[in-house]
Amino acid sequence: MINIAIDGHVGSGKSTLARGLADRLGFKVFDTGAIYRGLACAYKEKKYNGVNEENIKDFLKDIDVKIFFEDKLQHIVVCGKDYTQYLRLEEISMLAAQISPYKILRDKVVVLQRDFAKENNCIMEGRDIATVVLPNADVKIFITANEKVRANRRYEQIKNQPDAPSYDEILKDLRERDYKDEHREVAPLKPASDSIIIDTSNMNLEQTIEYCLKIIKSKTNI
Ligand code: C5P
Repeated sequence: MINIAIDGHVGSGKSTLARGLADRLGFKVFDTGAIYRGLACAYKEKKYNGVNEENIKDFLKDIDVKIFFEDKLQHIVVCGKDYTQYLRLEEISMLAAQISPYKILRDKVVVLQRDFAKENNCIMEGRDIATVVLPNADVKIFITANEKVRANRRYEQIKNQPDAPSYDEILKDLRERDYKDEHREVAPLKPASDSIIIDTSNMNLEQTIEYCLKIIKSKTNI
């Protein structure tokens, strides 16, 4: 199987890039952030008093996570409940970043990710794909952009939605989540030594896709 790892900062366009590449290559996209988000939804429902090691251990006791695809939409089911429609809520973004540093929780998620990569030609996107989950991935891409550019892109996407956060709120949230992801002890966000780093601050989606396709073609037989 051919596995392509895409890691990067919050709002760097990983998901959009992954979908664009998958369409061109006929690969599946595996969004690993969605698993942390699905777990965050289930964690929230348990109404624990905050996030700490003890609560995370209790939460993981009988946890069962399933992933399935309907058309191209990746669904996340935790203990029988499909959380797919709640994954993008702002409070879930923050809670996902709070629960994701715990090793016992990451160990569960890594197994699901590796099983999927074994069976599918895929583009897997997340934070630690090239460094931890798939260190032997055929292609490793680390995507980033200036934080103000990223905040502005997100603001433009959601500004017409009811209760959309302001640009300043988006920027603050993005900085906080990046800080958490980069500074955690386990599987921090960083490029692998052999990742190709792409800064898309001055590139549009089409240019980024074309650039990545060239890299992928040079590193695989596709
Ligand atoms: O990519 P996305 O924003 O959906 O990820 C949500 C959160 O899940 C991230 O802020 C990060 O804390 C966590 N995550 C992670 N490792 C991954 C993917 C996501 O820790 N591979």
